[in-house]
Amino acid sequence: MSHPNWNRVVIKVGSALIAPNQQGCSSHYLLSIAQFIVRCRANGTQVVLVSSGSVAAGSHMFADQEKSNIAVKKAMAAAGQTEMIATWDRLFDFPSAQMLLTHADLRDRERYVSIRETIFSLLYNNILPIVNENDTVTTDKLKVGDNDNLSAMVAAAADADALIICSDIDGLYNKNPHEHDDAKMLKSVDTIDESIYAMAGGAVKGGVGTGGMRTKIEAAEKAVSHGIDTYIINGFTELSFNMLLAGENPGTHFRPFKKPMKENEHWMRHTSNAQGEVIIEGNFDGTLITDSDQLTSSEIIGVNGEFSVGDTILVRKEDGTKLVKAKSNYSSCLLNFIANQESDEFAHEFEEKTGPIISDQHVANLEKE
Ligand code: GLU
Repeated sequence: MSHPNWNRVVIKVGSALIAPNQQGCSSHYLLSIAQFIVRCRANGTQVVLVSSGSVAAGSHMFADQEKSNIAVKKAMAAAGQTEMIATWDRLFDFPSAQMLLTHADLRDRERYVSIRETIFSLLYNNILPIVNENDTVTTDKLKVGDNDNLSAMVAAAADADALIICSDIDGLYNKNPHEHDDAKMLKSVDTIDESIYAMAGGAVKGGVGTGGMRTKIEAAEKAVSHGIDTYIINGFTELSFNMLLAGENPGTHFRPFKKPMKENEHWMRHTSNAQGEVIIEGNFDGTLITDSDQLTSSEIIGVNGEFSVGDTILVRKEDGTKLVKAKSNYSSCLLNFIANQESDEFAHEFEEKTGPIISDQHVANLEKE
């Protein structure tokens, strides 16, 4: 078989490959990954690398410290990140670029578009983007939390054809292969449903990294809906990479949707999350999906959270029913103000001038908000 016909791939490499014994970075497992990247590029395939490992690489510098302390962990990430980037950079004779992102960056449409432009510009100039989460500035509210999901968001932002997630086992098994001798690996998955998540098990930690098989399936779900072929492979063996380059599947292949979501729809569903809520009257019987079914301020009875123009919000009824996720064209402050006006006339005049309160409505995935 010939090499696959990809224009662009994202490869996600976890901490266990970079700093296997947490004594700083080791190039032991990275050599075959770097070789894969070099060969992809030689075949005309652009590559984006999502690399974990900053915390694992930096931990040896904090020998006497409490490793679970968040401030110490962030310091380990800051110190380990330079070591990790330097290790990768040494393996290539072309330039690489560090991109540190948070979920707060990705869920903001303007910053998201800017991230896309930066990736395209780096690739156009034959520079390898190396992405990691910016662990030093994240809080629970601002982080993606694991690089599996981050890699899927990056693959969507980069319009990649394939996402390759390196694991420490060969792929997804129908049951835990460490516990069951008769466990079988799935060669391909057409639909990711609860049965697939059940095979992945709970939020199992994979040693030095953050994700387990579950976050890899979440990542695959995000990627395939954007039309991206996704592979979970064993990143510890060179054979996996040789097989990929020969157009063969070394692990589990998650087949992409035949009709992928549009870029902005995918972003609204999988990357953006609601910054606040608009509560509307319980007897509202519209769906808010079409533009003709617009929200008016007289139906709004409450505004929760603080959000700015352009942020994603959740619209729900007072009984809790979630109606849509949408872009707010008003800030929370302004919406509060117009919703609290005694006379509807003022608000209506205002809306006529300023335009619809929400746009880009999306109904799926509301349960996660
Ligand atoms: N961003 C973290 C790091 O570089 C890793 C997150 C993960 O393991 O998924 O250490």
